[in-house]
Amino acid sequence: MTRAFDQLWAGTFRHAAKHSPFYREQFRGLKRVPPLTSLRTVDKRVLSERNLDFLCVPRAKVVEIVTTSGTTGQPLLWRLTEADVQRLAANEKISFSCAGLTAHDTVLVAVAMDRCFMAGLAYWLGLRELGCAVVRTGASSPMLVLEMIERLQPTAIVAVPSFLRVIAEKAREQKSNLKKCSVQKTVCIGEPIRDPAFQLNASGRAIAAAWGAQVYATYGVTELANSLCECDAGVGGHLHDKQLHLEILDDDDQPVADGEVGEIVATTFGVEAMPLIRYRTGDCAALFHAACPCGRKTPRLGPILGRKNQKLKFKGTSVFPSTLAAVLEQTDGVESFVIVARQENELSDSIEVLVHGAASVPTLREALQAQARIAPKIRLVSPAKIESLQLPPNARKRRTFVDLR
Ligand SMILES: [Zn+2]
Repeated sequence: MTRAFDQLWAGTFRHAAKHSPFYREQFRGLKRVPPLTSLRTVDKRVLSERNLDFLCVPRAKVVEIVTTSGTTGQPLLWRLTEADVQRLAANEKISFSCAGLTAHDTVLVAVAMDRCFMAGLAYWLGLRELGCAVVRTGASSPMLVLEMIERLQPTAIVAVPSFLRVIAEKAREQKSNLKKCSVQKTVCIGEPIRDPAFQLNASGRAIAAAWGAQVYATYGVTELANSLCECDAGVGGHLHDKQLHLEILDDDDQPVADGEVGEIVATTFGVEAMPLIRYRTGDCAALFHAACPCGRKTPRLGPILGRKNQKLKFKGTSVFPSTLAAVLEQTDGVESFVIVARQENELSDSIEVLVHGAASVPTLREALQAQARIAPKIRLVSPAKIESLQLPPNARKRRTFVDLR
């Protein structure tokens, strides 16, 4: 580890050990700054159970309270001081400069600015910091986005991939050609747009084609008040190592090799209200340390393959539903599909892939074996069967993975 890292880590450790009731208890008896990797990890459950024990400042210093998606029940409350809000702005400024945005850009922020989310606030702050002209259309009206594109000629848009596809659909209905519009960059949050080899997945390709724009992925975690955004090279989101340290750990809490997939475990630097040390995000991805073609030397985080608890054990290997989904999306003759997992025994899950379309079972088996290296059960079914599994009664979101374990 470098000297810069040692200093930043010591700063986080001393601040947390002194001011947070949770960390004070954890670090009791430690006289010196210990090696980061010698400390226990914390997960969302601890954050939820002992929420206010992570707070390092008096309530009067808190200026912003947001919620994070909860693991169970209520969303978690997360607090920021004025300095934390500025750190957030600085982080997003670096992130958006990775995507090449400058003060000359007019940017539509088509994500929710309210409902206690941090993302919309963070993007607004970061873009303002860069000097961009920000247009907060929000994520509820595709028509408003299209109107603003027409009237303002924006150069970029920040949105969730599924909303970008909804806008494209609306544009088609209106017979307007989005491909010829002024937007040259789409910054995509919340859903993957690339496969592990950094190729655009079906969603990424659909957006690039419909918008005629370059697609950038950005990944953020509310509790870390941080995001990592791709540059033009599109080979992972750049880490801002003065604000955040990432480890990728395997199931036994051991570090994986460079480029190997594991759980993202993060330590924040420079956070005043709620610093985190070795926080298990629950998200799985790979980290790459080789210098990027863009010249930046900071580590790059690959596409998020899924939540750790979605990982499937199958005959001695492990696979993420997203990997199977990516193969199915790219196989000719697949109209729609659902992946169903059940627990077979302690060591292995049973996986069944239900497909509607013209593709044959042998073709599907070959594609999955070649690209995902597993041979699950495959069944061709009616579109109605797929629909009932993808969108059961009371479901809020369409799903292609059904976990019955
Ligand atoms: Zn780069």
